[in-house]
Amino acid sequence: MRFIHTAAAAPAVPGAYLLLIALPVKLPVALPHRPETILPPGRYLYAGSARGPGGLRARLARHMRADKKPHWHIDRLTAAGAVEGAWVIPGGDECALVAALAHLPVPLPGFGSTDCRTCASHLLHWPAGAKLPFRHRRAGGRASGRPGMALPAPCIS
Ligand SMILES: [Zn+2]
Repeated sequence: MRFIHTAAAAPAVPGAYLLLIALPVKLPVALPHRPETILPPGRYLYAGSARGPGGLRARLARHMRADKKPHWHIDRLTAAGAVEGAWVIPGGDECALVAALAHLPVPLPGFGSTDCRTCASHLLHWPAGAKLPFRHRRAGGRASGRPGMALPAPCIS
């Protein structure tokens, strides 16, 4: 499992990924048959899997592209915010990722997990100070994030 900043750095093989999204503004999201929820500004993690042609690289390229036709709920979030990077797990399973992050709050039940029977949501909120069970960046690596994004730097173990 490693953190990548660009889709080009992801392998073109099937697997799971965890997107790191910085949302600078609050975002109203309405899932089918549910009341509208306002996602507050902050950092979010979205677990997904890529099984199609081009694998993880193709899927992450789509997530990181700004000009795309919205198709999934996550497209609303990546359009309103910025994808700072992703952890990639070739051959991995997105529900196992969610299970490893059970200590993080679920901002919107059902988000990304309508086909899933085990997870409350595939979208998690990553509050400042909450620790993740894996590394964000290599030692000595550059800080992620865009200039002008006034988000607190989370503390990572
Ligand atoms: Zn799941």
